[in-house]
Amino acid sequence: MKIVWEQSVYVGNAPVFCTICGCRSYPVQSRKNQLLLAIIYDKRGVAWGEACRECVSAGSAGIKARLQDRIQDLQSKINELQLLADTEIQTPTLEQEFQIHRQDAS
Ligand SMILES: [Zn+2]
Repeated sequence: MKIVWEQSVYVGNAPVFCTICGCRSYPVQSRKNQLLLAIIYDKRGVAWGEACRECVSAGSAGIKARLQDRIQDLQSKINELQLLADTEIQTPTLEQEFQIHRQDAS
């Protein structure tokens, strides 16, 4: 993985989501008044998304640790969703659905 500061291709100061930690991140304003984003590239030069300032300044060891944290977090979410998917699913009865629509209309 290679991280490079580049001029933002987005309009204005819109936030992006950090590919490493998942948090919301804003572009950094350079001294030349440019909005910069830290872009993550893989070894083939394919862009993977943006990195937040905290992740960039965490350095390579810090980024690896942050990625591991995120992987564990996502893994436990996957496990939770798998548990839900493994159970029998009961949707609301037609009568309940009908009552919701009647409340909407009034
Ligand atoms: Zn981050």
